[in-house]
Amino acid sequence: MALDTIETFQNFIAGAWEDHADTMPGINPATGDQIARLPRSDRTCANRAVAAASSAQAAWAARSVFDRAAMCVAIATKIDEARPRIARTLSMEQGKPMAQATGEVAKAADGFRLASELVKQMGGQTLPAEDPSKLVMTLRQPRGVYAVITPWNYPVNIPVEYLAPGIATGNTIVWVPAPTTSMVAVELMRAIEAAGLPEGVINLVIGEGATVGDEIVAHPDVNGIGFTGSAATGQRIAERGAGKPMLLELGGNGPVLVFEDADLDRAALAAANGAFSNAGQICAATGRVLAHRSIVEPLAARIAKHAEGYVLGDPRHQGTTMGPLNNPKVAAKVAEHVDDAIAAGAIVVTGGKARPDLGSAMFFEPTVLTGVTPTMRINKEETFGPVVPILAFDDDDEAMRLALDSDYGLCVGVFTENISRALRFAETIPAGIVNINDGSTYWEIHLPFGGGSGTRSGVGRLGGRLTLEAMTELKMITITRKP
Ligand code: NAD
Repeated sequence: MALDTIETFQNFIAGAWEDHADTMPGINPATGDQIARLPRSDRTCANRAVAAASSAQAAWAARSVFDRAAMCVAIATKIDEARPRIARTLSMEQGKPMAQATGEVAKAADGFRLASELVKQMGGQTLPAEDPSKLVMTLRQPRGVYAVITPWNYPVNIPVEYLAPGIATGNTIVWVPAPTTSMVAVELMRAIEAAGLPEGVINLVIGEGATVGDEIVAHPDVNGIGFTGSAATGQRIAERGAGKPMLLELGGNGPVLVFEDADLDRAALAAANGAFSNAGQICAATGRVLAHRSIVEPLAARIAKHAEGYVLGDPRHQGTTMGPLNNPKVAAKVAEHVDDAIAAGAIVVTGGKARPDLGSAMFFEPTVLTGVTPTMRINKEETFGPVVPILAFDDDDEAMRLALDSDYGLCVGVFTENISRALRFAETIPAGIVNINDGSTYWEIHLPFGGGSGTRSGVGRLGGRLTLEAMTELKMITITRKP
């Protein structure tokens, strides 16, 4: 694309679109071409966005719950109307095929509708007291200004998980999207603006997280933090925002356990979907498969068959079912993990290499590896790419040891017909979600999602009313009766 035809994107602060002099390129990962100029905002911009959110907050919170719920419905309608456009940008900038992009945008509208329904049902309690003169009640109030920082793998859905409950409950927001998916953030913001959201309620600041994200989490006028991203960044944000209520949705390396009595067709399909959908860039992905030694070969063959059914290519081409990885950092990590495993003795059942011939260095073949051992990086770290590493175990004790040998604890799948065994694993593994006879990726937006305590996968729970509760403060009010 010629540089003079490239669109320049803007920040949205206090209800106005504004340029920023310093820019960074937006890149199409399928071709490596520059497709946009994006603001590389500075700390001053971030501070102005916090000021805008602060000054809008009291009036927004004073609106009736029904009014705010109606605004969420209006936003959902605008997202639905803009679905083809948002999905096209999402597909081009993130790399996911159009069908997946369209589905993601549809879910984003659902997220606003869900928040609109739930907020109308949210209430406090009246509580008994020892003191007979007291009437005690609780109510839920917005926390104030939220910093929302989001990643590039689901750059429409993940922001909505915070934006919708956040504004429904009366908070105002400064949103920092991932730099490599900022164009689609603008498209989503345009749909939100078109619904008539008052100025300052959501402010979009595009730039590098280490600058603008860092500024907002530490800002004294920011009262709460919603962050989805890597464990390393989550740790940094927890330090910078210490003392503020926060939701931290971090990485995973979900084991999918497959025992000798499992339905192998089902397990293979779920493991493949969890590794190859979105090119494996899913926090809940099939990070690793732990399989009973007696079924490793037939399981690997089935997963490989699914892998070979994917059509890797430019997501804009009809028929493409897997696009490129999103950015050079993730592409390098995937290649390193696979190369490291092969060098240490893993066997490539299918795939195993990058495919720059398809248009850019971001393409990586859907890959299945057997002979993976616990010390390999691909077992220990989150790969975040289209790879299924399979480790063998001989008995349940070894399966449990392998499952527990992880810093992460996000999402787990367990395939077995033995319900006692399934429950033992489900109850013992410190993860937020364990799906019995399904893969690690099963979840719906009204259900609890988050990392297990004592792991690097995060703090708190997203999903349905849990997010609304997390983004509000429980206040107790007591009334003293006069004698
Ligand atoms: P990342 O941590 O590199 O970036 C996430 C966001 O944080 C980006 O917007 C980035 O600009 C910003 N950021 C970077 N440094 C910052 C700093 N110092 N202060 C404030 N903000 C900063 O993660 P990523 O590579 O964009 O996303 C992939 C990661 O996200 C994976 O680890 C994945 O598992 C995780 N993830 C988790 C969930 C979940 O729900 N648990 C969902 C999706 C992705």
